Amino acid sequence: SKNAGSSGFRFYVESLSQKSREEFEIETGLRHALYRGEMFINYQPIIDSSKNRIVGAEALLRWRHSERGLIPPGRFIPVAEKKDMIAGLGEWVLENTCRQIRSWNDMGIRLDFVAVNISVKQLEDREFIEKVRRIVERTGIDPDQLEFEITESISMDNLKNRQGVLNELDKMGIRLALDDFGTGFSSLGNLKKLAVSKLKIDRSFISDINLNEHNTAIVSTIIAIARILGLSVVAEGVETREQLDFLRGESCDMIQGYFFSVPLSKSDFEKFVKLQSSP
Ligand code: C2E
Ligand code: CA
Ligand code: CA
Ligand code: CA
Repeated sequence: SKNAGSSGFRFYVESLSQKSREEFEIETGLRHALYRGEMFINYQPIIDSSKNRIVGAEALLRWRHSERGLIPPGRFIPVAEKKDMIAGLGEWVLENTCRQIRSWNDMGIRLDFVAVNISVKQLEDREFIEKVRRIVERTGIDPDQLEFEITESISMDNLKNRQGVLNELDKMGIRLALDDFGTGFSSLGNLKKLAVSKLKIDRSFISDINLNEHNTAIVSTIIAIARILGLSVVAEGVETREQLDFLRGESCDMIQGYFFSVPLSKSDFEKFVKLQSSP
């Protein structure tokens, strides 16, 4: 109709302001979230696919807003990155994860690694290495048990510019994983140059393994690339027995996903570990 254009425009303006209002609310809320104790961390088990036992975990940030309830990280992390709040949040996640590693070690739960997501914005912070060093020292953990996940979907140029920081972390003994692998643009040459020891296959390739033969081929290829380069490989977002069987058939080293467990609170994680280690 004749009016479609103008009402379409109005709708656009309204949804834009709706979006920026929501972003503003998130931004304001984020400024208070830490000291109000609204943030906490869940841990998702990562399973060794041949030994069929838990070897590690990924720390995932959670925000329970006093009025809005749980806000998913997919909504607030991008705002935190845009509004320069990710450094503070990221440091909080790192410090608390290291304390958790320490307390699990004391309890006799010794994981090979716990992975923390690191935003590229954090790598750009000149004081990042010093902050990490201080946290590791303060919490007294073995940096071997710490892994940083850096998303591959940012451009490889950007990652190459961060090579110095990545090397520093590597020297400290912290392992590096490329997250969401397959969605970005890494070339094999670049991959070899980066101080990375693990690839995490993005969930989008795993979710339709049995429906989409292209994705099946992509997953097999990523696993082959990892093997050639001497990297270990994790499949994320594994939800079904079929996906698990396929990945085992391809000798994918590690599995993460709802098939084994959703991300768990600290105490549920402890129960999960005890359950699998009891005869
Ligand atoms: P990610 O790093 O790719 O994390 C994996 C996401 O997949 C998590 O979503 C996890 O809950 C979800 N997931 C795991 N297994 C399955 C599965 O089998 N099925 C499905 N449908 N989903 C699965 P979550 O916790 O909502 O986190 C979303 C993203 O937010 C993360 O994606 C990461 O990019 C970011 N994020 C979370 N915590 C932090 C943090 O502490 N720092 C930073 N910088 N980013 C974070
Ligand atoms: Ca991740
Ligand atoms: Ca991921
Ligand atoms: Ca992802």
